[in-house]
Amino acid sequence: MERQGTSAEWTVRDSAAVYQIPEWGAPYFGVREDGHLAVRPHGEAGGEVDLYEIVEGLRERGLHAPVLVRFSDILAHRLKGLHEAFAGAIAEHGYRGEYVAVYPIKVNQQRPVVEEVLQFGDTYRFGVEVGSKPELLAVMAMTGEMGDRPIICNGFKDEGYVEAVVLATKLGRNIVPVIENRDEFRLVMKYAEIHQVRPSIGLRVKLASVGAGRWSESAGYKSKFGLFATEVLEVLEQLRDAGNADCLKLLHCHPGSQISDIRALKEAVAEMAHMYAELVALGAGLEIIDVGGGLGVDYDGSETANPSSINYSLAAYASEIVHRVGAVCDDRGIDHPTIVTESGRAIAAHQSVLVFDILGATSPVPLGSTADEPTDEGPVPPDWPQPLKDLAFAYGQAAGTGTVAEAFHDALQAREEAMRLFGLGYLSLSLRARAESLFWATLDRVRRRATPDDLGPDELESLDRILGATYFCNLSVFQSLPDTWAIEQLFPVVPIHRLDEEPTVLGVLADITCDSDGKLDRFIDADGREPRRLLELHELRPGERYYLAAFLVGAYQETLGDLHNLFGDTHVVHVQVDARGSWWIEEFVEGDTAAEVLSHVQYDPGALLATFRRDCERAVRDGRLSVAESRALQDFYRGALDAYTYLEK
Ligand code: PLP
Repeated sequence: MERQGTSAEWTVRDSAAVYQIPEWGAPYFGVREDGHLAVRPHGEAGGEVDLYEIVEGLRERGLHAPVLVRFSDILAHRLKGLHEAFAGAIAEHGYRGEYVAVYPIKVNQQRPVVEEVLQFGDTYRFGVEVGSKPELLAVMAMTGEMGDRPIICNGFKDEGYVEAVVLATKLGRNIVPVIENRDEFRLVMKYAEIHQVRPSIGLRVKLASVGAGRWSESAGYKSKFGLFATEVLEVLEQLRDAGNADCLKLLHCHPGSQISDIRALKEAVAEMAHMYAELVALGAGLEIIDVGGGLGVDYDGSETANPSSINYSLAAYASEIVHRVGAVCDDRGIDHPTIVTESGRAIAAHQSVLVFDILGATSPVPLGSTADEPTDEGPVPPDWPQPLKDLAFAYGQAAGTGTVAEAFHDALQAREEAMRLFGLGYLSLSLRARAESLFWATLDRVRRRATPDDLGPDELESLDRILGATYFCNLSVFQSLPDTWAIEQLFPVVPIHRLDEEPTVLGVLADITCDSDGKLDRFIDADGREPRRLLELHELRPGERYYLAAFLVGAYQETLGDLHNLFGDTHVVHVQVDARGSWWIEEFVEGDTAAEVLSHVQYDPGALLATFRRDCERAVRDGRLSVAESRALQDFYRGALDAYTYLEK
């Protein structure tokens, strides 16, 4: 539907306000004077690039949207920011321990990302966290030259996993298995003895304090991980009895991902700090307190405790942890431990932008500023059934003969009655079509006239939703934005060009999967209200591309994505930007081809092609296809097997 009541003199500042870019995007994203989306990967340090120019540049290089553009410099900036926040808090609180971040690779395991984290985190000795055997395999090989970098091993472990961790200690890795249950403890001690290693052990404790937000159950007694206090004491006793209490080096908890309310963090850290101090007093050789992940991302820019936001800053997060751990240790007269965090989302989210093109749009009413006000069409035929007459009457009322509220309510009721008649076989298809067009035209008129005094905010919103357009996006929500579908996660979605033009259409976004769930119909609201149900969009222009992008998508989305409808991985490019704003592509990762996704689900593309060719040849033999037609069909088949799984406009 067309937006109402916007100003004639539209500027890029209006677009920044509509899409709330400063709220969620600072310091990395902004709007350029030419109406294109600006990316500043170094934050305030300068060096701005035009995202639209990058996308067009990729097209010239043969890479079409959808494409995931990853800004390595943003990743570096995030890591630096984390280090600086903790360095600031350490200085502010006179803390006498160190801070080290370990990046949980499950957040984004793509090799270039993990390599970059290790490379950019080199100055700060940042390490990595793994949660499974395959993740361990990746990390063990990648850290060959970085023996001092901590590797924290969480998650359930079998004998092979535990033995490999113990042997990695001999190899020179700074690796800590975090014990999740008694069985793992037994295995660690067994293999430590077999291989004559004094391991550094971590214990994961079940916190009584439950986190906040969607992942609150990662903590608390019902959490699937960690040891109860009684089990922690048992482990310590066994270690002490064997003269190994000094092997217990690290205490770990994970209060849940995307902690939206800082109060939940305060509680969890205080509990952890006391647990740490108690265990030290009981003789544990603890040196590290690992407060897990959970540092959130302000996806909607509202700075509230909404699930898609956080009510604290990075500096406040660091200060809270450093202050609380320091204060508890001072009270107990014990040394300040090294503080480890396992922040994932806050490191990885900002670096990736998913750019996709719009394939077309549908709308119940003509779209955009060029749509004419519908006109009345003569007298109502006397033989029309009553619901149609009522619709025609409502249409007249909406033009000004009655109140818009009456017109709206009458139209809703009359349409319902007309559809009921059709369902009972008493209305022809052509009259049904007439009823529908009268209904939409009435609602369109109502929307043009209605003010908040005519209809309440809820009715106005439902009217907007009824009239909203649907823009079809060349992407799969299940592959590229799975959390929007699975847990109603919000990501900012913004056009990457035309931001100097007023967006005159309100609509939702539908993907190209054959699934009605494959859509984006909840959008951020930086004022902290309920998510908006419609997005401001520009009218499509014939023959012109229209690109949108979803931002802050670098955490969790890539590996959680699936092959629904066999839409594969999108292209990924790693873009680097220098201080003058010149950009170049450091790494291309081409998206899946149809042959690759078919192989993934156990088809043999070569065999498929051979079978299909045979079929075409038989059709030629039987005269159903000409040789030229058969060749065209085979060429299509072969070409499509080797092509991108997304649509090409
Ligand atoms: N550490 C552990 C043990 C986790 O389970 C997780 C994720 O849930 C993380 C760290 C990363 O959390 P986040 O991405 O919220 O920082």
